Amino acid sequence: MSALDSAATAGFAKRFAGEPDGLWSAPGRVNLIGEHTDYNDGFVLPFAIDRRTVIALAARSDRLMRVASSFSDEIVEVSLDGLTPDMLAGWSAYPLGVAWALGEFGAPLSTVAGFDVYIVSDVPIGAGLSSSAAIESAIAVALNDVWGLGFDRRTLARVGQLAENRAVGAPTGIMDQSASLLGEKDSAVFLDCRTLESEVVPLGFDAAGLELLIIDTKVSHEHSTGGYASRRASCELGARLLGVDSLRDLGVVDLARAAELLDDETFRRVRHVITENQRVLDTVRTLRESGPSAIGALLDASHTSMRDDFEISVPELDLAVVAARGAGAVGARMTGGGFGGAAIALTPHELIPAVTAAVRSAFADAGFGAPDTFVVRAADGAGREG
Ligand code: ADP
Ligand code: MG
Repeated sequence: MSALDSAATAGFAKRFAGEPDGLWSAPGRVNLIGEHTDYNDGFVLPFAIDRRTVIALAARSDRLMRVASSFSDEIVEVSLDGLTPDMLAGWSAYPLGVAWALGEFGAPLSTVAGFDVYIVSDVPIGAGLSSSAAIESAIAVALNDVWGLGFDRRTLARVGQLAENRAVGAPTGIMDQSASLLGEKDSAVFLDCRTLESEVVPLGFDAAGLELLIIDTKVSHEHSTGGYASRRASCELGARLLGVDSLRDLGVVDLARAAELLDDETFRRVRHVITENQRVLDTVRTLRESGPSAIGALLDASHTSMRDDFEISVPELDLAVVAARGAGAVGARMTGGGFGGAAIALTPHELIPAVTAAVRSAFADAGFGAPDTFVVRAADGAGREG
């Protein structure tokens, strides 16, 4: 039993008394490449990481749902009777929103049993590693088992997304939940956000002597809602003016026409999405044909595009990327929605200490707060633990 599993069992006993029926877990994720492409019906290439949210859950004999987390002292209680997404708020909207969303996909919410659930996690919150999808996916697989629903993982990903969109109120795409549910060890999930078709793509980091270093700048992306919404609006405007349903329908060949038709800012937003989609396709091909040592330039180009065209980077992320590359990373980019959060640096195993030290000293010299740095490995997706 892992330390997190023990903590989940012990925390459950402390908050609710008694033993859980079982433990379920789901990982956070990191996006290797493909940023702000998901809501443009495009391509993304995330992978599930070896940081997880574990939940201990027991069915109840009544219709009450009670949720508790190591993250908070409160126990939130909501009945399954009359459950709506609008009555949910705060952190408990993630787990309870999933219960509601399962009903929207056909779970018989008027007859199922309530439950007690206790949540622990070592996915850093708000770092762009999707602690939110980890919690949603863990609850989704647990209730799928306990309520005997038989939903497949793609459906559970859509359930998690609906919970996040409607119960939490965050207009996010399907990437995070897909990675958390479909991920496999040492592999990434290549996801077409239009068709929702996915393919597992071996990463081969170990064989190539590479590691993925996360540099969490600790700059909060919490207040990025306005930036995220305005980027979405620019993409929608660009698609409308160019006469397509979404930017997915455009390719690099359309850039000249876009430059003529669009104002400079909208053009740059559109150029990011078009070139980023192409970079995801190129990364998948390069991984298959040449291995991970050859994807560095694509990661670097992705960062430049987000910094200059999409304008979602911040000085801390730019510095992390420059310092990591300078110390020998084969490629680096900010990851996640932007305006803070984390950068990733694909780094030869033996250079991890040097890259870490270079980033730390660059941050200190710039007067920035110390970042958190750690290596993540591609791990299996959500499932039952015990
Ligand atoms: P990210 O997904 O990048 O970590 P989000 O803002 O999307 O950041 O989600 C973070 C939110 O998810 C937290 O503010 C909290 O409400 C909820 N959350 C995540 N992990 C937990 C946890 N272990 N216990 C309770 N709530 C959690
Ligand atoms: Mg999130």
